[in-house]
Amino acid sequence: MDVIKKVKQRVYKFGNKTADGNSKMKNLLGGKGANLAEMSAIGIPVPPGFTITTEVCTEYNTLGQSSVIALIKKDVEQAIAYIEKQRKATYGDKENPLLISVRSGARVSMPGMMDTVLNLGLNDEVVSGLAKRTNNKEFAWDSYRRFIQMYGDVVLGMKPDSKEEIDPFEEIIENLKHKRGIELDTEFTVQDLKELVDDFKNAVKKRTGHDFPTDPWDQLWGAIIAVFDSWNSNRAIYYRNMNGYPADWGTAVNVQAMVFGNMGNNSGTGVCFTRDAGTGENVFNGEYLINAQGEDVVAGVKTPQQITKLGSERWAEIATIGESERLEKYPSLEELMPEVYEELQNIQDKLEKHYRDMQDMEFTIEEDKLWILQTRNGKRTGAAMVKIAMDLLSEGTINEKEALLHIEPNKLDELLHPIFDPKALKRATVIAHGLPASPGAATGRIVFFADEAKKYESSILVRLETSPEDLEGMNIAKGILTARGGMTSHAAVVARGMGKCCISGAGALKINYKKRALTIDGNEYKEGDWISLNGSTGKVIEGKVATVEPKLNGDFADLMALTGKYAQMKVRTNTDAPKDARVARNFGAEGIGLTRTEHMFFEGDRIKAMREMILADTTKGRKQALDKLLPMQREDFEGIFEAMDGFPVTIRLLDPPLHEFVPHELTTQKELAEEMHISLEAVKSKVSDLEEFNPMLGHRGCRLGNTYPEITEMQTRAIIEAALNLKKRGITCKPEIMVPLIGTVEEYEMQEGIIRSVVTAVFEERNDSIEYLVGTMIEIPRAVLVAAKIAEKAEFFSFGTNDLTQMTYGYSRDDAGKFLPIYIEKGILKVDPFEVIDEEGVGELIKMGVQRGRSAKPDLKIGICGEHGGEPNSVEFCYNTGMDYVSCSPYRVPIAKLVCAQAAIKASM
Ligand code: ADP
Ligand code: MG
Ligand code: MG
Repeated sequence: MDVIKKVKQRVYKFGNKTADGNSKMKNLLGGKGANLAEMSAIGIPVPPGFTITTEVCTEYNTLGQSSVIALIKKDVEQAIAYIEKQRKATYGDKENPLLISVRSGARVSMPGMMDTVLNLGLNDEVVSGLAKRTNNKEFAWDSYRRFIQMYGDVVLGMKPDSKEEIDPFEEIIENLKHKRGIELDTEFTVQDLKELVDDFKNAVKKRTGHDFPTDPWDQLWGAIIAVFDSWNSNRAIYYRNMNGYPADWGTAVNVQAMVFGNMGNNSGTGVCFTRDAGTGENVFNGEYLINAQGEDVVAGVKTPQQITKLGSERWAEIATIGESERLEKYPSLEELMPEVYEELQNIQDKLEKHYRDMQDMEFTIEEDKLWILQTRNGKRTGAAMVKIAMDLLSEGTINEKEALLHIEPNKLDELLHPIFDPKALKRATVIAHGLPASPGAATGRIVFFADEAKKYESSILVRLETSPEDLEGMNIAKGILTARGGMTSHAAVVARGMGKCCISGAGALKINYKKRALTIDGNEYKEGDWISLNGSTGKVIEGKVATVEPKLNGDFADLMALTGKYAQMKVRTNTDAPKDARVARNFGAEGIGLTRTEHMFFEGDRIKAMREMILADTTKGRKQALDKLLPMQREDFEGIFEAMDGFPVTIRLLDPPLHEFVPHELTTQKELAEEMHISLEAVKSKVSDLEEFNPMLGHRGCRLGNTYPEITEMQTRAIIEAALNLKKRGITCKPEIMVPLIGTVEEYEMQEGIIRSVVTAVFEERNDSIEYLVGTMIEIPRAVLVAAKIAEKAEFFSFGTNDLTQMTYGYSRDDAGKFLPIYIEKGILKVDPFEVIDEEGVGELIKMGVQRGRSAKPDLKIGICGEHGGEPNSVEFCYNTGMDYVSCSPYRVPIAKLVCAQAAIKASM
C-alpha cells in the first residue's frame, strides 16, 4: 500500500535533554510534540515521552484500527520501555508503577478541541501499589478517580445526555460533596475517593454495558485511538472549518510520563504567558492551583491564583480583596514558592528568546520540582499581536522582517472594530465585575446555551464556564461572560483566539440554567435582556452602550509605516463614496481600483432619471434622461477625485443588467408611469421586456455601452469634465476608464472608440487636457485566451475575479449558496472560491492573462478588483503573478498592505 511505504519513522522519543524531533517538525509531530522535543533538547525539564506522528493518524483514517495498531505496536512498546528506564518505574507494575498521559496535538494549536487522558496505567491493584510506594493514599486515589473520570469521558463516551444535564461523574461528585457537607474536592478523604471510584465504575457499566478496562495496555490503545478519533469529532471539524485547516492534516498523539501536581501542598499546576495575551503588555503572567492536575486550571472549575505578585495585586484590586486577605488566602506563586517561581521565571525568559515570540506554557510542580509540559506561541488579541511584534522589534529580539511576519493579517481586522463611546460609558450602570479576559466592546441579548446564540442578531453568551462543545455558539455570540474561571480558562483562551470580547470569573453572577435567568445582588436578568461587556476592564453593564470608531495610532501606525518599506505591490481600494475613499487613504490606499458607477444611480432623484433613460424607446429619449444624469455623475466623480488627489482612480462604466434599476412593485410602477406621463401598461411591458433568463450572462457590461453608446458617452464626459474642473482647482486626477465584461477585442475596440472621441471633443471644448488611461476588465475566460490581442489596444487590465470565478466554475454567484456549503462540508471544495482565489483553475487563467497581456505590451499595468483583493492568500497569489496592485474594500486595506509586505519578504528569503 502506498501510504505505508512512504512513512519512515512513526514514533519519535524525547526526554532527558535529548529528542528525535525538533520544533521545525510541527507538521509531522504536531505543535505540542515538536515543542516537547525542542524543549527537551535545549535542556528544559520535560517529562520523558514519545510522539506518534500525524501520518499515523492519516493511516488510521484509511486503514482502520487493527492495521494501524499492528504497524506501530513494536515501536510503542519500545518507546514505553524508554520512558520506564528514565523514570525507573514500570507501566502496569503493581509495586512500582509508571503512569502516563496520552495527549492530542495537531500541527496548529486547537485549544481544547481534541482529547487528552491523564493517569493511565491504574487499576485496583496498581493504585494500592502507588499508594504504598508514595506513602500518599490521598494522591493515589485522587489520581485513580480522575483517571476513570477522564477516560470515561474521552474514550468511553460518558458525556452528559442533554445540555441542561451536568456531567454524570460531576453529578456523583456533587452528590457526595453534599452528603459530606464539603465544598472542595481536595477535602475528600481516602474513603470518599474509594467510594467515588466505585460509583464511577458502576456508572460506566450501567451506561456502556461494559466493565471499565483494567489492563493498562488496553487502556493505552483505547486512549491512542480515541485521540485519533477526536480529530474527526464535531467540534474539531467545526474549528478546522472555521480556520480553514484541511481534514488531512490529522493529529499526533503524545504519550508522556505523568508528573503529579496533586501530591499535596508542595505540588501544583499552572499556565503562564511570557506577555499579556490581551493587551500585549510585557509582563510575565499566569495562574496556578495548589494540589491539582493540569485540567483543573483550564476547565475553569476552580478560580486559580496568580503566579506573579504584580498579577496577584492587580487581580485583588478587581476582586476588591484587601491585601492581608489576598496574602493569606490567595498568595502568588512568587510569594508561596519563591525558588520554584524563580526557575519558572528563568525558563519563560529563555523560551521566549528561543522561540522569538510570546509563549504560552503549561507547568506542573511535583513535590517542589518544576516540570514544563507544553509551550507554544501564545494566542493573542489583534491589539496584543501588534504591540508584541513592535515591542520585540524595539527590544532587538527580532528584526523588521520578522516583526512583519509575526502579524496574522486577518487579525488586524479586530483593531478596526468599534469600541464603547467613552461618554456613554460614563453614564453606564455597572452591574458586575469579572476578569478582563479578552478586550473589546460587546452589546447583545443574554443567552445561556451556546447552541442558542443564533437566536438573536446580537447575543451575549452567559455561562458558568464554557467547554469545547460551546465553540460554535461562542463564535456566533458578540461576547462571552462566565461566572467561573480565570484568565486562562477555556472561555478566556478561546475568546482571545477569536478576537471576541470576553469577561471571565464574574463571581457575583448566580446563573440558573433551568430558569434561563441570572441574578446579581438580587436583581434578575432573563434570557433576551440586553447587557454590554467591556472586555478591556472586566465591567458588565446593564443595557446597550453606544460605540465609536477606534483610533489607529501608535503601534498600529508604526506597523503600517513598516509595511510601506517592504511592500512592492500597491494597494488600492474599491469604493464609490468620497468618505470611504478618505478612510482608505488614511489606511494607506494608493488609489482606487474600482469605482462602481451604478451604485451612484440608486440614490434619491437619480434613480428616476435612470429609469427614464431605461424606459425611453428612442435614442433621443435616452439622451434627454442621460443629460439629467450627467451633472450628478460629474459631481460624484469630482468628490472621489478630490479625495484621491494625486492617485489613480479606476472607473468602471455601467455594468449590471438594466432590469436591476426598474421598479418591480406595482405602487412604484404607478408612480413612475405618472411621472413619465406614460401608461402603467407601458411601464409594465418595458419591465417585462427587460426580464432575462440569465441576467448574469445577458444584456450587461460593455454590451450595454455597445448597444446604447450614449451611456458610455455620458459617463466618459462626466469623468473628463470632472477631472478638468478639478485641475483648475489644482487637484491632480488620474482617471482610468475601465470597460467591463469584454470577451472579444472588437467589443473593446468599439467602446474605446466611443470613449476616445468624447474625450477629444471635451478637450477641444475646454481647450485643456489631462492624462488618462483606457483599459478593460478581464473577467470572461475568453478574454484571457485573447489577452495578447486585447493588450495591443488596452492600456491596463484589471482582473474581475468575482465574474471570472463565476464563469470559470460555471457557478452562479447568486445561487451558489444552495450548494457551496454542502460542497465544502463534503470536501468536494476545500474553500469557497468566491472568497479565496482558486489557484488551480481560476489562478491559472489569471497567470495566463498576465503572461499573454504582457507578451504584447511588456509594461501593461495589471491589477485585481474582485473581492479576493483583500483576502490574504489571494493577495499573496496576486503578488506572485507579478501584478502591479490589488484593490479591496477600505477596511481591508491594512490587511492587504501587510500581506504585500509579507509576500515580498517571503519571496526574498
Ligand atoms: P490540551 O491540548 O487540551 O491543553 P494537554 O494534552 O496539554 O491538552 O493536557 C491537558 C492538561 O493535562 C494540561 O494542563 C497538561 O499540562 C496536563 N498534562 C498532560 N500530560 C501531563 C503529564 N504527563 N503530567 C502532568 N500533567 C499533564
Ligand atoms: Mg495543553
Ligand atoms: Mg464583473
